[in-house]
Amino acid sequence: MEKSSHVLLSGRGAEEFAVENGFEKVDPKWFFTQERWNTLQKTLSEEKAKGKTGALEQTNPDYKYGTVGCVALDQQGNLAAGTSTGGMTNKRWNRLGDAPIIGAGTYASNDACAVSCTGHGEYFIRYSVAHDVWARMIYAGASLAEATDAIIHKKLVEKGGEGGLIAVDKDGNIAQPFNSEGMYRGWTKPGERKVAIFKE
Ligand code: ASP
Repeated sequence: MEKSSHVLLSGRGAEEFAVENGFEKVDPKWFFTQERWNTLQKTLSEEKAKGKTGALEQTNPDYKYGTVGCVALDQQGNLAAGTSTGGMTNKRWNRLGDAPIIGAGTYASNDACAVSCTGHGEYFIRYSVAHDVWARMIYAGASLAEATDAIIHKKLVEKGGEGGLIAVDKDGNIAQPFNSEGMYRGWTKPGERKVAIFKE
């Protein structure tokens, strides 16, 4: 945001920009983890058995979404959201998920809320989930709880999109709905510090 006038860079251009700005470049091997490799192998053999390849539907119950997201409200009333992901298991190469797409997996605007999403990214892109929370608040006067509930528990459930989100609004209200079995999350506000995985 501070070093370029663009909102989104991708591929080689993004890589070069990162290196120019002091990021360390590592070999792809650096990202290897045995656990994720094993999940990939299991998914590949399941897909082979079903005669499907490169399917994005997550049929493996061991699969957990691996996104890390954060949202924050500072003392000056600034709202910010960030999302980082390894994507979906067995995704096609060059597939882009929702995490980097502003309005899909990530969105923040000081007039309403900051939102970071996790889940089956294709659905979050199709329904502009993070921006939809903002739009419901601004255009329909919904509270953060109503807006996040409507998109995660109604719209996405209806469409078959699994996932959840974390969000904070300009008054410091927090919402963390998910329609998956669990969602690792932590939050803090004056007088409160908590972590949770399943529904409370
Ligand atoms: N939303 C991410 C994606 O579709 C996956 C995740 O949340 O783990 O790439």
